[in-house]
Amino acid sequence: MQYKNINSNKIKSIALVAHDNMKANLIDWCKKYQDKLNQHKLYATGTTGALIQQKTGLAIEALISGPLGGDQQIGALITEQSIDMLIFFWDPLEAQPHDPDVKALLRLAAVWNIPVACNQASADLLINSSLFDQSYERSIPDYDSYLAKRT
Ligand code: PGA
Repeated sequence: MQYKNINSNKIKSIALVAHDNMKANLIDWCKKYQDKLNQHKLYATGTTGALIQQKTGLAIEALISGPLGGDQQIGALITEQSIDMLIFFWDPLEAQPHDPDVKALLRLAAVWNIPVACNQASADLLINSSLFDQSYERSIPDYDSYLAKRT
């Protein structure tokens, strides 16, 4: 696979997802960093997004609920370079009916070199990184050269 560099904007598109047992944690995290998050474009799966909006007033572009396809919607946005960062508080202690979708989302985040925080500590470190509010160059698969090789 060949790679190329792209720039993510100063204003990041951030996807927020939390499994049911982790939603309170993510809401608390959003409250803590509300002023920072307010400067960026936020996406979320349906229930997570509705709750964050209700509890914090942050503007969120809510997709469909995760078990109904929301994780896959976020995955699709990642492939289009429309998401720069994934904050995904997944539940390590409970099986999810949509586990294949969760795995697919995490896989796409790895394929497209998206920074992912899977818990509060990693989310704290990401949001407090000096790169968080700056333009950031990352390498992604070069789809044009991939296609040219296969056709
Ligand atoms: P939800 O989906 O925000 O609609 O609950 C999250 C998930 O479980 O993927």
